[in-house]
Amino acid sequence: MSVELEERPANADDASQEQELTDGFHLLIDALKLNDLNTIYGVPGIPITDFGRLAQANGMRVLSFRHEQHAGNAAAIAGYLTGKPGLCLTVSAPGFLNGLTALANATTNCFPMILLSGSSEREIVDLQQGDYEEMDQLAIAKPLCKAAFRILHAEDIGIGVARAIRAAVSGRPGGVYLDLPAALFGQTVEASLGAQSLVKVVDPAPRQLPAPDSIARAIDVLKGAKKPLIIIGKGAAYAQADELIKRFVERSGIPFLPMSMAKGLLPDNHPQSASAARSLVLKESDVVVMLGARLNWLLSHGKGKAWGAPGSKKFVHIDIEPREMDSNVEIAAPVVGDITSCVEALDNAMGNDWKQPPSDWLSAVYDKRDTNVAKLTQKVGSDLTPMDFHTALGALRQIIEERPETMLVNEGANTLDFARSVINMSKPRKRIDVGTWGIMGIGMGAAVAAAVETGNPVLAVEGDSAFGFSGMEIETICRYNLPVCIVIFNNNGIYRGTDVNPTGGEDVAPTVFVKDTRYEMMMEAFHGVGVYVTSRDELSTAVNTALDSGKPTLINAIIDENAGTESGRIGNLNPQSVVKKT
Ligand code: ADP
Ligand code: MG
Repeated sequence: MSVELEERPANADDASQEQELTDGFHLLIDALKLNDLNTIYGVPGIPITDFGRLAQANGMRVLSFRHEQHAGNAAAIAGYLTGKPGLCLTVSAPGFLNGLTALANATTNCFPMILLSGSSEREIVDLQQGDYEEMDQLAIAKPLCKAAFRILHAEDIGIGVARAIRAAVSGRPGGVYLDLPAALFGQTVEASLGAQSLVKVVDPAPRQLPAPDSIARAIDVLKGAKKPLIIIGKGAAYAQADELIKRFVERSGIPFLPMSMAKGLLPDNHPQSASAARSLVLKESDVVVMLGARLNWLLSHGKGKAWGAPGSKKFVHIDIEPREMDSNVEIAAPVVGDITSCVEALDNAMGNDWKQPPSDWLSAVYDKRDTNVAKLTQKVGSDLTPMDFHTALGALRQIIEERPETMLVNEGANTLDFARSVINMSKPRKRIDVGTWGIMGIGMGAAVAAAVETGNPVLAVEGDSAFGFSGMEIETICRYNLPVCIVIFNNNGIYRGTDVNPTGGEDVAPTVFVKDTRYEMMMEAFHGVGVYVTSRDELSTAVNTALDSGKPTLINAIIDENAGTESGRIGNLNPQSVVKKT
């Protein structure tokens, strides 16, 4: 399908036909722009190629990727960083399915995004007559996202986009699917009627005030605590209530534990940080405040050995989603509302006679933390060649400390687990990682969005396996000349590079890659900067140079292939056969 740019059909001979027309293409662009959605992450193709062109011609930023999953991951991270739904644009059937993985992941992570996908003709799809890329996309998307809509008439585009925006950002944020059949784009409407049909969404994510009695109950529970703890999750980071949260935590005097993507909301070197005493605080605390975090697998579901004696805890849970309460354990004080309003209310209700937590609890937590921090500091000071994870991460830790505005993207197994504890964050929403599903493949999409949405330099710390899932997007990074520095921790394989094929056969073990792969040469192919490093000093120099220059750079950091453990720190989730076969 092709449409001439900006040209409107009009018959000069017939005055009655001279009324100005608009079409589906333009109405969609106008609807998005009206709502301040100006960036599209996508992959062109039938039937949305011209839409992308027209969007660019009309002042939108249209960033093309090499695979829809990464465009989708970029849109999701754009949503997380800005609080507005990130937009992903895909072609029908296979392109849609590729983007759907990212939409489902965004929904799981509570990131707002909209997947706009072209689709085939309804009449043919519904009769299953075998259209080009035929698929009932709406039905397939529905169970995997927060909401799914289809627009059939151009005059409904305004309301369809409004519904999608509201569904994505109100309440618990998530992914929304918007189905756009090919025929919609070419439909014409009288321009003035089209303009009237557009909707600027008023207050898309309305505040949700917590009930006063829920606040009183929470304060009661907190006042009875002898060993309180606050766990801060990425929902709190998303809410952009940074000062308010800091003030509440500091006034309360309660130690806090940030979840991975909430690191930096309060700095990791904050006097109340309990990060390095994680095991102790989970086990020993008696009252736990959950602030925009879920008691899912990442927190052992709030029960079991990690959480100490059964029944030893009371939970105060602050979340915008009422059904999150009691999802894994009993919640003594549910506080349902948006984080900003909830924290404000709690802060007010604390009153001026608020007592600091008992000092024996605080010294137990902070002593343990200081001991662990001292051990870690020694470990990351190492200068081994070949580098192990701590040597390489020690170099990056110092760089992030010196450059706190850097956006850090992180995925892998060991590369993720070690980086999370080694690299301190001091600013909110600067760390993007594998999130709730713990998936691989978010790296380059997240790096693109981090660069585009913030304008800050990006450091992507990638396991060699993790990088492979989105590696082709380094062309995208080079094409848009984004200030992204990728460091690949190359240990020749998944977890490590030393597994052997027990049969002695020709194939290597399933976890092993080509030895000494020259990833940096891939970057050179796209006219980016590629660097091969084997030592801590070389790594430091290369990263600093990249961040100073802002040039797209890929650093292939050679890590000891013996370093690394199976599945990093979540090896316990991996069933292993105990049956010996000879
Ligand atoms: P983490 O993985 O860091 O623990 P989760 O993604 O599991 O964080 O949890 C985030 C929680 O934050 C979700 O339960 C979500 O409903 C909640 N949330 C997101 N935005 C807000 C908000 N503005 N106000 C309150 N809760 C929010
Ligand atoms: Mg590896």
